[in-house]
Amino acid sequence: MKPLLRSKLFQRQLLAFLGLAFFVMATMGGLAYFRAKATILDRQVEVSALFMSGIERHLLGWLGERKADIKLLAQVLELERSAMDPGLARPRLKAFLAQKPDFVDAFVVDAQGLVVVNKLETSQKRTDLSDRDYVRAALEGKSFASSYFRGRMLGSMVFALSEPIHGPEGRVVAAAVAVFSLDRLVAIVDNAALQDLGAASLLDGEGRIISSTAFRESRRDQDLAKEEPLASQAGRQLALHQGGQGRYVNAQGMAVVGSYSWIESLGLGLVLELSEAEALRPLAALLGFTILFSAIILLILLGMAYYLSARLVAPITSLIEATSGLMAGHYSRPIGLKTGTELDRLVALFDQMAETVMDREAKLRENAARDSLTGLYNHGRVDEFLALEMRRNRRSNGIVSFAMIDIDHFKQVNDNYGHLAGDEVLKGLARILEANVREGDLVGRFGGEEFAVILAASPPEVTRAFCERLRLLVADTVFRFEDLEMRVTVSIGWASARPTIAEAVDLVRWADQALYEAKESGRNAVRGGQASVGNPPGIG
Ligand code: GH3
Ligand code: MG
Ligand code: MG
Repeated sequence: MKPLLRSKLFQRQLLAFLGLAFFVMATMGGLAYFRAKATILDRQVEVSALFMSGIERHLLGWLGERKADIKLLAQVLELERSAMDPGLARPRLKAFLAQKPDFVDAFVVDAQGLVVVNKLETSQKRTDLSDRDYVRAALEGKSFASSYFRGRMLGSMVFALSEPIHGPEGRVVAAAVAVFSLDRLVAIVDNAALQDLGAASLLDGEGRIISSTAFRESRRDQDLAKEEPLASQAGRQLALHQGGQGRYVNAQGMAVVGSYSWIESLGLGLVLELSEAEALRPLAALLGFTILFSAIILLILLGMAYYLSARLVAPITSLIEATSGLMAGHYSRPIGLKTGTELDRLVALFDQMAETVMDREAKLRENAARDSLTGLYNHGRVDEFLALEMRRNRRSNGIVSFAMIDIDHFKQVNDNYGHLAGDEVLKGLARILEANVREGDLVGRFGGEEFAVILAASPPEVTRAFCERLRLLVADTVFRFEDLEMRVTVSIGWASARPTIAEAVDLVRWADQALYEAKESGRNAVRGGQASVGNPPGIG
């Protein structure tokens, strides 16, 4: 884990991968998000226009019904010729108001524009309404719907609908007027049931808010004349008596999708605004989900990248370790890693190479330990093996024996038969030694015509017997070279000792002394013995 994270290869791979994955996800996600947002908002503009035209139709339909109401009232009064007679007309007005609760008031004005009949029994002084547009229009014979105004008698914002009433000669003799409150229209707009989707507002001809579902509590009863025009695209356009739609920031500073329309017959602007944030809420939720999902995907990809990189980097780190191991001379087992990539070939080749190198080194080492003429171990290897044998026997305190064999008057062999013949004698003697030692013993060429045998776990008597047998065997042997027949004898010196009292060099020294004595005694002889504490081996 740790070395992997520190690997430059791994870091770069992981970084590149993460960068790429993040870039792709962010780009695709961003593109998808902005496309979806634009689409949703475009649709929302259509939705707001649809809503608004629905409310507008509702308002106009309602107004049409009220116009029909007042027309019917005027016709009844005209037919009964009761318009100027409070006794007859008043019950009609009262019945009318009772049946049509949308109206707050109804009355009849005479040809001079004075109120002649109203719903109240006690008619004080006759109110003069001759300056009113709706009275003048009706007296001129036209059906009329006023813009809203502050009712003189009611004190609140109202609309007046008027109808002419004709006399028998066909002249207009009076007018029927019915008044409904602005509240009725506000109620219709409110009932559009937008809930928290958005706000519906009514604006006056200057672009000022009359009512708004969003402003209802705070603004309803305020003096409209003092209101600033609605500071938004809708307010400005409606002040010009123009409709439209679009995305803009509304009077409350909220980003909205809005539609607005100027309703000429009511002298009112209708605005319908849907909150952009509300419309985008599902998208925001989707965005949150997408980010979470992407994060999970990214984590999974990260895990995969980690796994893949680990597979890729592991053989490389193994190769590095194995190479430095090989250089330091210890290569124990093949890396043998499988990644399923080209690296496998590299690893396999490395393992092959390492094996070849180790084999060659072992052979070199072996050859270096051998004497080239006889194939026996050389002096150095004999010394090493003797030291090892002493160590090995230290715990058990077993006896180690060492024998030195020297050919007698070998110089004469060379002199008499030639150097090549002498070599042949050396080789022959080497074979005799090899053939006669036991398993676990080691034969070496100590130098020149001197040989050495290390006898493992061999007590003195056995060693002496072995040396004696060897001496006789050599003396009985005829060495041949080409057509020459040669005979030689050997002198042997040996020593036995336990590792507790002697070192390898002591054994060699004692054996050498014994050999010297064998030579002194006249050659073709064996001398040696076991060393005891404080005493070199006695010669015997
Ligand atoms: P002694 O040991 O009985 O005292 O007499 P020696 O003649 O064997 O004594 P010395 O050690 O002086 O002579 C050894 C000779 O062995 C000298 C050298 O020419 C000969 N010799 C050493 N190595 C080789 C070799 O590899 N091949 C041959 N042919 N002769 C060798
Ligand atoms: Mg010699
Ligand atoms: Mg000799």
